[in-house]
Amino acid sequence: MLGVIGGSGFYSFFGDDARRVPCDTPYGKPSAEITVGTVGGHEVAFLPRHGERHEYSAHTVPYRANLWALRALGVRRILAPCAVGSLTPELPPGSVVVPDQLVDRTWGRADTYFDDGGVHVEFADPYCPTLRTAMVGLPDVVDGATMVVIQGPRFSTRAESQWFAAAGFRLINMTGYPEAVLARELEICYAAIALVTDLDAGVDVGSGVKAVDVFAEFQKNIEPFKKLVHQGIERVDEERSCTHCLAHEGIELPFELP
Ligand SMILES: [Zn+2]
Repeated sequence: MLGVIGGSGFYSFFGDDARRVPCDTPYGKPSAEITVGTVGGHEVAFLPRHGERHEYSAHTVPYRANLWALRALGVRRILAPCAVGSLTPELPPGSVVVPDQLVDRTWGRADTYFDDGGVHVEFADPYCPTLRTAMVGLPDVVDGATMVVIQGPRFSTRAESQWFAAAGFRLINMTGYPEAVLARELEICYAAIALVTDLDAGVDVGSGVKAVDVFAEFQKNIEPFKKLVHQGIERVDEERSCTHCLAHEGIELPFELP
């Protein structure tokens, strides 16, 4: 089964015929009930990352419960649409980008299932190459960018933003971590697909990020973006063939996976 974790503005994905699945996990309840429907021949489980009414801010999203609940349902591949800021005028608002790297600047989030025992998963390339290939084949999608994930919920200062841009990071977001690493720890293929909603504070042409502008830009682009994600799902192979994301080879886990 494929999973989709929808970001801001992405609270539903199917028509009324979707099946709702209440879930509970050892890490508490996920952000919302998961809905299961069919897209492009795939059975798809959809979970709104921030809850159905955006109850969870980026730093309070129950990430461990979300990934665990999807895995327990049978999900082994996840597409993660998200809203991002751009750190370069080359990626103006409305751009859709499939990032290939991330930098974690969050703090205090529960970002592992392996609190006990010496388990260290490989994470040099945080995104699934197979899912990325499917997504970058979509029309007008940009292939590759480093996404820096900040703690939020505030936006960056101008100096932070300029620092990130000088380091070569091109996208900025608040939810891409720990979602990606938790997927890897559960051996779930994971790829983000990012919709640019604003130029972050430090980009010369910007006057600073205001939430009202971000949401207005997002509203304008959200329906085409959802359609694009539907098209992306149609491009995903029926069977999972990826071995890159099987992170447990040679590792003894302290517990059984669902
Ligand atoms: Zn993979």
